[in-house]
Amino acid sequence: MKKILLLATGGTIASVETAEGLSPAQSPERLLSYVPETRSVCHVDVEQPFCIDSTNIQPEHWVALSKRICAVYDEYDGFVITHGTDTMAYTAAALSYLVQSGSKPIVLTGAQKPISALITDARKNLLDSLRFASHDGVHGVYVVFDGKAILGTRARKVRSKSYSAFESINYPVAAFLDDRRILQYVDAGERQSAVRFYDALCPSVFVLKLLPGIRPDILEYIGERYDAIILESYGVGGVPQYGQRDFLRGLEALTARGKIAVIATQVMLEGSDAELYEVGFRAIHHCNVLQAYDMTVEAAAVKLMWILAQTHEFSEVRRLFYTSVGGDILTPEQ
Ligand code: ASP
Repeated sequence: MKKILLLATGGTIASVETAEGLSPAQSPERLLSYVPETRSVCHVDVEQPFCIDSTNIQPEHWVALSKRICAVYDEYDGFVITHGTDTMAYTAAALSYLVQSGSKPIVLTGAQKPISALITDARKNLLDSLRFASHDGVHGVYVVFDGKAILGTRARKVRSKSYSAFESINYPVAAFLDDRRILQYVDAGERQSAVRFYDALCPSVFVLKLLPGIRPDILEYIGERYDAIILESYGVGGVPQYGQRDFLRGLEALTARGKIAVIATQVMLEGSDAELYEVGFRAIHHCNVLQAYDMTVEAAAVKLMWILAQTHEFSEVRRLFYTSVGGDILTPEQ
């Protein structure tokens, strides 16, 4: 029987009603008591590194999770992390960068309703996650939710209330889980290299969503406080260059100061192709601006945190940003 470590971190799944709304409080032992079926699936040990609403999650929490997994990596066959859904995609991306080439699964799950509720998705999600983490041949970081296993670098919360909260963005769902079977659609293949842990992130990354009328002087403010900026621009990607509202000059000034700028898109599916239009081409070719291509904004932002903890040198940042980690980017550079 496989040995799994359950790391409980809070979220709705562990929440109870309080006078001021739902608040995480249930211990991991209590969570497990709601799914007695797990006893026939795997052996589970439990820990609770922290117990928070995931709105409060910080890069320091991601590093703490990675360090804990590193410390006990050899003792377990897999890891399940219960987590709030609101920032689960960021945590899944972070663990994909902090724990690379692992031969074991790290599965994040949570729920839209508390596990103690009469009608809830929590029991199914927790059981499915333990089943998936115990399944032969699964390795890498996943979000398991509502019967789907989604690669950690590809998950996004797309529904705020329904059980089907997560989708896989620009990448197929890795596996489907029904009551009897696990159908792996994406075979991750055999692991060739040894697991590699990282223990640092540089959180100096800002995500700016563009809006018609936005003033470019915001770039100066951001440039004084952050090392990298992701512009959530429009369509396949471009930056406004209209009259006084010229972002190109602002971006040029930022990158000349050694800041990293990335064009991404507000559109959920299919990613950027910023060289297609003049408004994007100029930024890429005249201002040393990178683009997210098919990466999610969540993954691109956390990837920059991981890269900036290693280097601020532009060509090395660029190389690492466009190197696929955990299946995060497919678009080949032209
Ligand atoms: N606010 C909660 C959290 O992210 C929502 C959830 O878990 O579904 O912790």
